[in-house]
Amino acid sequence: MIDLHTHSTYSDGTFTPEKLCRLAETKNIKILALTDHDTIDGIDDFLCCESNLKKIPGVEISLEIKNGTFHMLGLFVNHKYGPLRENLSRLKTYRKQRNEKILNKLSDFFHEKITQEQISHDNKGELGRPHIAKFLVKKGIVSSVEEAFEKYLAKGKPFYESKEKLNTDDAIKLIIESGGIPVIAHPITLGLDNEKFDTFIRQLVDLGLKGIEAICPLHSKEDCKHYIEIAKKYDLLVTGGSDFHGDNKDNVTLGNLGSCTLPAEYLNKIEKIKGR
Ligand code: AMP
Ligand code: ZN
Ligand code: FE
Ligand code: FE
Repeated sequence: MIDLHTHSTYSDGTFTPEKLCRLAETKNIKILALTDHDTIDGIDDFLCCESNLKKIPGVEISLEIKNGTFHMLGLFVNHKYGPLRENLSRLKTYRKQRNEKILNKLSDFFHEKITQEQISHDNKGELGRPHIAKFLVKKGIVSSVEEAFEKYLAKGKPFYESKEKLNTDDAIKLIIESGGIPVIAHPITLGLDNEKFDTFIRQLVDLGLKGIEAICPLHSKEDCKHYIEIAKKYDLLVTGGSDFHGDNKDNVTLGNLGSCTLPAEYLNKIEKIKGR
């Protein structure tokens, strides 16, 4: 088994990198990537954990797109590469600023000062919207994380705040310069029809895109098939990941890639890439 998209307590997951490794072992996963949002701060802990797993250091970078959600995975990145660290540290500042804005909105809503500490629990990094979603559940405002996003936190909803992002060109360049492979995450969330998606991918390939996460729980069998065809068309790697967030994302378990499995030819390719 393989899982190339997971989050830890260094972003909005609820498992530490060490616990992620242990959980992966119990599920017979052989290749595991840690891909926290806009941060590589958990990679040292991840690589330190003693295990026979093939561990892939990664990151998931949020990028700008008009309506949908655009996330770029960087797999096999060298987390010690200076420019990568510097740029991600800038993103941390943007996230802090955005969290402040959301906390202000929450404080207005609850008529009391809501602090980062009230929301963060065991988080080791910056807060993300899932932490806030859980807080709204705890407060009884909504009954699930999903509902919190639907009513309050999704793009266009009352508590949503955008944050400044890296531009796509820079993100792809940074990932490549740090020895990594840029892979477009859960492409369904871009919200593009087939024709627009094709044009979009062609532009990204020109910028250096190397892979598509065709296999993930958000994709139907048909979606997977379509994304694999696109990958073939542009000679891209196909990857698969669960986007595991622990208790911050219901219905997602580690190693469960949804309705499709990663085709053996791509699994072989990934197995041959040198880990760190
Ligand atoms: P942030 O990085 O703070 O913008 O939060 C992004 C995270 O929010 C993603 O990793 C998703 O796991 C989560 N998320 C986004 N939309 C939804 C949704 N509709 N339901 C549940 N979780 C979501
Ligand atoms: Zn997340
Ligand atoms: Fe994502
Ligand atoms: Fe993710």
